[in-house]
Amino acid sequence: MILRLAAAAAAFALLAAPAVAAPPAKAAAGAKLDAIAGDFVRLTLEAGEREPGYVDAYYGPAEWATAAKAKPREVPALRAEANRLARALKAVDGKALGPDEVRRKAFLAGQVRAAQTRLAMLAGQKFSFQDEAEGLFGVRPPIKPLSAYDPILARIDKLVPGEGDLATRVTAFQARYTIPTDRLELVMKAAIAECKARTQAHIALPKGERFDLAFVTRKPWSGYNWYKGGAHSLIEVNTDLPTPISRAVDLGCHEGYPGHHVLNALLEEKLTKGKGWVEFSVYPLFSPQSLIAEGSANYGIKLAFPGAEKLAFERKTLYPLAGLDPATAATYDALTKATADLASVQNTIADLYLSGKMDKDAAVAALAKYALTTRAKAEKSLSFIETYRSYLINYNLGQDMVRAYVERAGPSQDARWKRMEAVISQPTTPADLAR
Ligand SMILES: [Zn+2]
Repeated sequence: MILRLAAAAAAFALLAAPAVAAPPAKAAAGAKLDAIAGDFVRLTLEAGEREPGYVDAYYGPAEWATAAKAKPREVPALRAEANRLARALKAVDGKALGPDEVRRKAFLAGQVRAAQTRLAMLAGQKFSFQDEAEGLFGVRPPIKPLSAYDPILARIDKLVPGEGDLATRVTAFQARYTIPTDRLELVMKAAIAECKARTQAHIALPKGERFDLAFVTRKPWSGYNWYKGGAHSLIEVNTDLPTPISRAVDLGCHEGYPGHHVLNALLEEKLTKGKGWVEFSVYPLFSPQSLIAEGSANYGIKLAFPGAEKLAFERKTLYPLAGLDPATAATYDALTKATADLASVQNTIADLYLSGKMDKDAAVAALAKYALTTRAKAEKSLSFIETYRSYLINYNLGQDMVRAYVERAGPSQDARWKRMEAVISQPTTPADLAR
């Protein structure tokens, strides 16, 4: 509805005020993008009927979803359509586009390439880990050998002295920082409220934005933001495994503020509604949009809690709420920071496992050793890898790329938040982050 009104208003403006209207070439190029965007949404919705989980969120015209459900094209036809859209995009004259439309075109090109790749996978085509990541997420992840992570393990070994292997010592240490189940909701709500307050101090949030919080079990992820449209999210937290105290702020920022909930609400407000760019009303999970979303959601934790601020907040507010002893918070925080350097080891293990160079038992053992977790958690990580494959890179490489881009704004927090807001409220591609 809103999209149609926006299109009608634009057409009216063209008729009523020819003196300020875009020149014909510009209007034609913009209209071509609009048409491609509409076809891209239809393609995505129909692909979603061929693969559960393909569409992460959709809040565009309901009749498009109904039509896709009623008569989804077969995978070969969808592949042909994705190829057609890629050619059509290439043919749009970039010189006739304004700067924001140039970004829009580049964004759409990445999303269409991802559709081509994912549909090829659905048709049975096999890609290497790096080729798959590049096709789906628009960036080729470097893969380090496992041995590159040994020096990090050695550093962590000094933080947690004692008998037995390092992963067992680390997990035994971490177990003392688990949020008791009956206090989880209280702690999560306090963490989310703080993430929101810190975000709101820098970014004007859309009016009426809100989320529901739910606790779930038996999922391959630890948290999920389901965006419903109308600035409304459902944030689910998985309680299959114990939630450590450090995860409260992480989840609050990542799923909520300034993470997924804010990104989706800003894109809806500024692009879907503000400009009538319908492609932002659909979110195909396996696309460069996810590198931007996961990368900004993870970096958002550091942006909202720079330096020692996360530790200070946890010690003062969350530890007492969780009934944990704040006196040892600093040691735990140091360990959490040190283990963060191991994040990209998951790419290495996923590459080895998915290419058949490492069997399931070896992969679980490697995850336990290098991600410093229990066997149960390592099995959970492997189940995530089996489901989402190269999606992993969005968390670690995505975060590194967003961090580097935002921090190039200089040391000022205001300047960094401004850059962050630009990343999560404009069409942004991985290539934009390299600028
Ligand atoms: Zn996420």
